Formats: sequence, C-alpha cells, structure tokens
Amino acid sequence: MKTPEHGMISARARDRMVRELLEKQGIDDPRVLAVMRDTLRHLFVEEALASRAYGDENLPIGDGQTLSQPYTVARMSQALMLDGREEILEIGTGSGYQTAILARLCHKVYTIERLPALADSARKRLRRLGYHNVVCRQGDGTLGWPEERRFDRVIITAGTPVTPENVIRQLAPFGLLVAPEGTLTVQTLVRIRREADGSLHRETLEPCRFVPLVGAQGWKEARS
Ligand code: SAM
Repeated sequence: MKTPEHGMISARARDRMVRELLEKQGIDDPRVLAVMRDTLRHLFVEEALASRAYGDENLPIGDGQTLSQPYTVARMSQALMLDGREEILEIGTGSGYQTAILARLCHKVYTIERLPALADSARKRLRRLGYHNVVCRQGDGTLGWPEERRFDRVIITAGTPVTPENVIRQLAPFGLLVAPEGTLTVQTLVRIRREADGSLHRETLEPCRFVPLVGAQGWKEARS
C-alpha cells in the first residue's frame, strides 16, 4: 500500500536524482529539470523495481527492452530544445516514461512502439496517469508515422545503424531530430536539424548505448 511517507521518500529520491545525476552531469534546462523532478518514474516499472527507479541505471521493462537511465532521458529531452508548442514524433515508446516527460514539455506527442505488449501497457499507463496529449500506436517506427505529416521534433529511443529515411522525411523545416546512431553495441547521439531550404545539418552530441531499433529500415530481428 502507498502511504504519504512513501510519497515523501519518492520526492526526496527525485530531488536527489535531479541534483546528483542530472545537474552534476550538465543538464541545465529548467523545464527539463522540473519535469524530471515531478514525474514519478517508479510508476513506469514493475513494483519490484520501484526502489531502483531514481538511481543511475537502465531498468528492464519486459520483452528484453529497457527504460533508459534518467540522465539519458533528460539529455535527449534537453537536446530537443522544446518551448511547449511542438508536436513530437517518438519512436520506441517502451514503458512510456520518456513519452510522459515529453508530453509535459511540448504540445502533443505521437509515439510508436514495435512490440504489442509494451505498446498496449504504455498506452494504458499513460491514459491512467492522465496524459491526454499523447497518441499511441503499435507498429514499425522505422517506416515513420503512418499518416503523411511533418513533426517539429523527432526522437528515436533505440539504436539505429542510420536514421531511417522515412523518419527524416517527416521532420518539419526548422525541426530537430535526436537519435542514437552506431553499431549494435555502442552508438553516438546525433542531432539533425532541417534548415529552411530543406537541407539537413548534423551534429554529434555524445556516446550512448541503447537496445536496437528493429524494423524494415533498422536492424534485423535477432533469430534464436
Ligand atoms: N524511452 C523508453 C522508455 O521511456 O521506457 C525506452 C525505450 S527502449 C530503450 C527502446 C524501445 O524501442 C523498445 O521498447 C523497443 O521495443 C522499441 N523499438 C525497437 N524498434 C522499434 C521500431 N522499429 N519501432 C518502434 N519501436 C521500436
């Protein structure tokens, strides 16, 4: 049973997470820090893992997938440079935690997850927690959002050999896309900006490590 004391412990743990894991590692966007402090990460993992929710680690979310460590979620959110008006395409819903963070920093999030069980539980969780500005889909995000449309921001939360062309096509002029590109074991976080003339400008941010983006324009599914 959750007691008021449990809430206090979680508040202290979130304060410590922001101070020790985010501010000390260079996260300085006040909106990102505030949302990371307010969002209950332990509600996005199994109850048995709740006590580890505010530590510096990835956590398993089922189906061999992981919820990224708090620093990575904050770093990617900050790299998107959000002012609250954006529509975001997210590829790799996972538990829905990063989706929840983005939902509080922008106008609307369109999120797609490949694995049906994760897509279903994230959709239910986000609805139950009151995130009404999120549209959830199940499918292969390497093909882009199924309807023809552009997004102000795009975030890919799984490692890809190269950012899929269909996804880049959906980035609006002046838009920013953040994705981990590289091998199956190690990637680099890149940020791609679409200029007014339609051309793309690429920046390398920092090394990172994600589970693979699996799909028609990503990695092939591993066979056992
Ligand atoms: N950001 C998520 C969170 O907060 O829980 C964690 C994302 S996890 C590191 C990567 C997710 O991308 C996994 O849930 C995986 O199933 C999903 N994924 C992999 N390939 C995909 C694809 N082609 N389309 C959509 N989702 C995909």
